[in-house]
Formats: sequence, structure tokens, C-alpha cells
Amino acid sequence: MILVMLGPPGSGKGTHANFIEAERSLVKLSTGDMLRAAVAAGTELGRKAGGIMERGALVPDDIVIGLIAERLDKGGEGEGFILDGFPRTIAQAEALDRLLPEWGKTLDAVIEMQVDDDALVKRIIGRFTCGNCGEGYHDDFKVPKVPGVCDRCGASQFVRRKDDTEEVVRSRLEAYHAQTKPLINYYEKQGKFKSVDGMAEIGAVHRAIGRALDGVQLKSGKPPG
Ligand code: ADP
Repeated sequence: MILVMLGPPGSGKGTHANFIEAERSLVKLSTGDMLRAAVAAGTELGRKAGGIMERGALVPDDIVIGLIAERLDKGGEGEGFILDGFPRTIAQAEALDRLLPEWGKTLDAVIEMQVDDDALVKRIIGRFTCGNCGEGYHDDFKVPKVPGVCDRCGASQFVRRKDDTEEVVRSRLEAYHAQTKPLINYYEKQGKFKSVDGMAEIGAVHRAIGRALDGVQLKSGKPPG
């Protein structure tokens, strides 16, 4: 199965992509994670992308399309991929429609997480993760049981994303509305679009995504060779 998770920043698409990855033997590809890794490694691509990400704008299409093409080229994708944070523009969606057939694949479904902007800002500016194991926390909704100590691994270092400030979040939301929302219509026309209520409680969102995926007729075949 090839699946795209669509939704504004903070909508929970990364969290739910992680659940689906484990349950359905899919591999999650997050362009945000790939870009952050390039920034941390100090590569040329990372230097180009870092400043753009800090402003909350979108990285140029050719860079992210290149990252995805390179990763698809490596294969080893198990039962398929969940694309988290890609495509984010019509040009990226068109590139994906050109790239997948080269691996004998077709996009099967697009799941959009529907949420409202004010809730998103609150969700995002309060979030932080364990610097060691990546467990997610939130100032209002989920603090460590023992203050300053990760529930899962016991580490005591926590990190916040640089772009999780209110001002940058507002820019990321603007980018979403202007550049990514047109994808809804693009995928509706392809008959692949499904939407779930991302404001519901996390278990209910999880079940709604499960039901949406159970109804998907697989279109992707096996890779050539
Ligand atoms: P979020 O969805 O919470 O904004 P991501 O980790 O998906 O977080 O993305 C973080 C940043 O990385 C984006 O604000 C953008 O600058 C960049 N980015 C990620 N994916 C793409 C993409 N497909 N196209 C352009 N920029 C991207």
C-alpha cells in the first residue's frame, strides 16, 4: 500500500503514521525528518533547507522531490510506504504520480486529518520529545510522570523543535492553507481522498484511520523484477 498522510502541522499525522507503520508493515517516509537529519548532519542540502524551515516556509520542490526519489530508489519498502509530509504542493504531487509507476507502484489513498487552526497552535507550541528515545510529551496534555524524567527510557534531556514557536507555527499554517490545501481537490478528482476528524480523542482518530484504510482497494502492484 502506498499512502499519503495529509494535514496541517500539529494535526497528528506523524503520530498516526507511526501507528500505521507498526500495524501494517509499512515504512514511514517523513520529508520533515529527512530534512532535519540533513540540517543536523550539516550537509549542503541541510544548509539550504535549515533557514527556510526556521522561518516556517516550504523547502523548494526540487529538493524534497530529490529526497523522496532517492529514498524510493533504495527500495526495501516491505508492504509499501506511508508518506508523511509529502507531497505538500501540486508540483510535488505531480512528481509523485510520475515517480511511483517507475517502481510499478500507484498511490492507493490519501488521508487528511481535519483540525482547526487555534487548536493546532496550542498543540504545537506545547510539544516536546525525549532527546534519547523520541517519546512525545506536551506541557498541557502529557507531562512526564516524574518531572524531568522520561517515562519510557528514564533519560532527562528533552528537546523542542526550533520551528515550534507561535510565530513560526502561524507561518507554517499559512503555507499549508496556500500551498498544500489544493491537494485535497487534486486527490478528490483521483478518487483517493479520505478525511478523518483529527480533533477527536487519539484512540478514536486511530480507529477512524483504520476504517478508512480497510476500505481501500489496493492499486499498487509489485515493483518490477
Ligand atoms: P509539520 O507538518 O509539523 O510542519 P514536518 O516535520 O512535516 O512538520 O515539516 C517541517 C518543515 O520541513 C516544514 O515546515 C518545511 O519547511 C519542511 N518540509 C517538510 N516536508 C516538506 C515538503 N514536502 N515540501 C517542502 N517543505 C517541506
